[in-house]
Amino acid sequence: MIEMRKLTFDLAEQEVARCLLCYDPPCTQACPANIDSASIIRSIRFENFPGAQAKYRKFGFLDKTCSELCFEQRNCEKACIRGRLDSPIKISSINNFLSNLELGILKKVNNDGS
Ligand code: SF4
Repeated sequence: MIEMRKLTFDLAEQEVARCLLCYDPPCTQACPANIDSASIIRSIRFENFPGAQAKYRKFGFLDKTCSELCFEQRNCEKACIRGRLDSPIKISSINNFLSNLELGILKKVNNDGS
């Protein structure tokens, strides 16, 4: 279980691996800004980071973090089905990770260091 608010690539991949890939996902339904977090999580799960960024970019929030806009309400995480098993997927942190990626705060480093 990941407690960190700031995710690295590795931690983001570990966290999305916990997602149950719900049909008709309640996390997406619960978002007041209609961010399709379930679809974003699927993209990251298949290491499609540009695709995840493009989906998140559609909502025009990449210059602000998800949690800033949501005032820490985290309706998505409260609705997450995984929370019934152990703990909800850290959706807010994943979306903040995408913001940091877009802003150039994070960069993917390959195994060879390039
Ligand atoms: S509700 Fe939770 S487990 Fe289900 S798709 Fe959304 S993030 Fe994944």
